[in-house]
Amino acid sequence: MSIQQLFRPDVLAMQAYHVADAAGFIKLDAMENPYRLPEPLRSELGQTLADVALNRYPDPHGDGLKDQLKAAFAIPAAADVVLGNGSDEIITLITQALAAPDTVVLALEPSFVMYRLNAQFSRVRYVGVPLAADFSLDLPATLAAIASEQPAVVFVSYPNNPTGPRFARAEVQAILDAAPGLVVVDEAYQAFADDTFMDLAGSHERLIVMRTLSKLGLAGLRLGYAAGHPEVIAQLDKVRPPYNINVLTQAAAKFALRHIEVFDAQAAELRRERERLAAALGAMPQLKVFPSEANFLTVRVPDAPALFAALKEARILVKNLHGYHPLLANCLRLTVGSPDENTAVLAAITTYFA
Ligand code: PMP
Repeated sequence: MSIQQLFRPDVLAMQAYHVADAAGFIKLDAMENPYRLPEPLRSELGQTLADVALNRYPDPHGDGLKDQLKAAFAIPAAADVVLGNGSDEIITLITQALAAPDTVVLALEPSFVMYRLNAQFSRVRYVGVPLAADFSLDLPATLAAIASEQPAVVFVSYPNNPTGPRFARAEVQAILDAAPGLVVVDEAYQAFADDTFMDLAGSHERLIVMRTLSKLGLAGLRLGYAAGHPEVIAQLDKVRPPYNINVLTQAAAKFALRHIEVFDAQAAELRRERERLAAALGAMPQLKVFPSEANFLTVRVPDAPALFAALKEARILVKNLHGYHPLLANCLRLTVGSPDENTAVLAAITTYFA
């Protein structure tokens, strides 16, 4: 059998997940926190990791880590937690655990691409409901799709990547009330947002609140977590690969959670920088800045590919969203960086329009 015959046609037709080479660039394309762990914490972490037994498999359930997550992020006592190798993996677990011939996965469009890709990987039908042109939720269309498609799961990115706004709480609540299956409120950007559904985790049977340490400043660790009703979390745990959270990640995450104030302070600064960047970009008549409760700003410009190229020329890497979805025409997504990085991107955009 040839390789072409061996693999699924939809896999053969796919492109691999593309990550741009950022060496030598100001990197504002992937919603990373610009700051590393400060000294002396970095040296202390080195000591902690040196003591980790690499010859042993990790704690399969990560119970100690879960307890620290519950305390640090106000996860209700009624909720259980499942850990993922990034919240990417939790999307995979949810989709796999639900996948049956008639399963439907529903999400809003444009939103995080992994909801759709995981549906494809698990060979279940994906329904994308378009947002309104201002990136708000089209609630009537969403509720109509939920009623007609009866999705096993609805993914809601809250705030939404790649657009920036957080949907109205009452509208997400309406989705939760109407959905027959699970509703995953993906709070990847919660550190930069003004609302959360975490208070309902565990008491609402069908709600899963998903978070990640990635945007907080620990993207390299690959640790995501989801809180929900114990019976739901127990099913997800069955499809989780054993030992999915390696010993170094578990140890480093526990260490980081003991110093959570460092990450809180960084998130507070990034929020202030987001507002500074939004005000300065908003003052440019050529630009439309969408409101954001995340650590990025999505902007519409006259010619996104041209501005993307000009910024690249200035050694600044942002995300060109043009071409991903009709609603994202001529949009760029700028991750909020350090003050110097934000000043550099502002200067480059000012020069471009001069
Ligand atoms: N959800 C959303 C909305 C995201 O934007 C991302 C990353 N871009 C993720 C989940 C996945 O994050 P991670 O796998 O790093 O936890």
